[in-house]
Amino acid sequence: MPDNAMTLEQVQSALDEQIAHYRANADDMTTRQAREYQVRIHELQLRRSVLLSEGAEVCEDCGGTPMGMLKTAAELDEFGIVKYGAVYEVGGCGCKPVPNGRGNLIMPAARGSTPAEAVAAWNANRLVQKRAGEPAAKKV
Ligand SMILES: [Zn+2]
Repeated sequence: MPDNAMTLEQVQSALDEQIAHYRANADDMTTRQAREYQVRIHELQLRRSVLLSEGAEVCEDCGGTPMGMLKTAAELDEFGIVKYGAVYEVGGCGCKPVPNGRGNLIMPAARGSTPAEAVAAWNANRLVQKRAGEPAAKKV
């Protein structure tokens, strides 16, 4: 159902609509209907991931293709990591976090306040660092 010509805004809008409808009606759905919503939502999330990582190079360490993610300030705030608005992240190539030798971990991920900024940071190898033991931010 998601069409490859959809823009990021169109994908996000369709995703928001499907999630809202699913949440509002899930209790009254048959298992089959619920599964159909879950599949549509998953397809839109994958499409969004591809759009958010457009232009990102494959990982030079593992050769994996990174995905794009949108993370919310609210969820980041819960962990005390970041205090500003929507954060875009490119990562998840398959590499594991690496200790930086000063108590932090270098994550196989880069962030930006726009998808293009996150892609540029990834391509420039400006990766996210976090305190060891700190929980990762959640995907939206
Ligand atoms: Zn990698």
